[in-house]
Amino acid sequence: MTSRVPIDLETPPSGTGCATCLATGGWWFHLRRCATCNLVSCCDSSPSQHASRHAREVGHPIVSTFEPGEDWFWDYEHEQYLEGPQLAPPTHHPLDQPTPGPAGMVPPDWEEHLH
Ligand SMILES: [Zn+2]
Ligand SMILES: [Zn+2]
Repeated sequence: MTSRVPIDLETPPSGTGCATCLATGGWWFHLRRCATCNLVSCCDSSPSQHASRHAREVGHPIVSTFEPGEDWFWDYEHEQYLEGPQLAPPTHHPLDQPTPGPAGMVPPDWEEHLH
């Protein structure tokens, strides 16, 4: 783990889904969680790519997966996987939350909108 990037191990995730998608009526494929501010955002396959945009705009390059059964970190700046400490729980979205999500917002042809 890169020591110059601050990691917040105390704060729970911002919510169960991408904060920006939920605010704007969007939808996501997979979820990521900023290790610095614990904002939940959507992955680069998602239509809006809010996690990488957050990394660029705010300068928080390290995200953790927010998917059930996964355990890894990604560094957007150096484009590499990292091992990292356990963030504050929950470390993934609710198991009954659909992928893609959120429920009711995903168009029938969603696969054609992935990056
Ligand atoms: Zn999003
Ligand atoms: Zn952040």
